[in-house]
Amino acid sequence: MIDAAWMRDALTRYAKRITEQREYLIELDSAIGDADHGANMDRGMQAVVVALADKPGNTPAEVLKTAATTLISKVGGAAGPLYGTALLRASIAVGDQQTLDGAATVTALVAARDGIVARGKAEIGDKTMVDAWEPAVLAAQDAAATNSPVKEILSLAAQAAEQGAEGTIPLIARKGRASYLGERSAGHQDPGATSSAMFLRALADTAAENSGAAT
Ligand code: ADP
Ligand code: MG
Repeated sequence: MIDAAWMRDALTRYAKRITEQREYLIELDSAIGDADHGANMDRGMQAVVVALADKPGNTPAEVLKTAATTLISKVGGAAGPLYGTALLRASIAVGDQQTLDGAATVTALVAARDGIVARGKAEIGDKTMVDAWEPAVLAAQDAAATNSPVKEILSLAAQAAEQGAEGTIPLIARKGRASYLGERSAGHQDPGATSSAMFLRALADTAAENSGAAT
């Protein structure tokens, strides 16, 4: 089960991974954007780690809310408000529950995806982070329907997100900065879909690591 400490652990893990993958994300964004996605996400997630040290929170929702408001205020560019909205919606959706089971985990993922869509108005196939989030949510819903444990739900979601991110390579961007390139955006993996897959992988890895204590 996911509690506040689990959520802090997951966000810290994601922050670490973003720092490791900063140059890769910059490289992806330099091909079809303005080369700042790695720097934006690294700055934002480092600020999240600092904010959580100051305000650890008592529930998963409180942790998510601190992360969301930090990302919204610290990250310029499209991705900050999109991630911030995702985490804020997830926070609201799970309310004051102390721990999240499989069903609540899916509720959070659905709310996050819906927040990104509400904010950015992108659809599947537009070559954005939605192309990672949408398949992740569908995979999570499928897994939860058969009462899979949280660990399994997040593992299948991460796998689907990674496939979705890879699937953005041939697409022509229809939203965000990359859409200015038109057909020239094809042949490159979308940076936001890539960092979104990393986010879901960080959640899955956190669940895998904590699976001794929780399901
Ligand atoms: P910016 O585009 O302002 O430089 P970033 O480089 O940090 O911001 O983020 C770019 C990523 O944001 C893109 O790769 C894409 O995944 C995502 N993105 C941009 N616009 C949208 C949108 N309208 N809906 C969903 N995702 C979007
Ligand atoms: Mg950019």
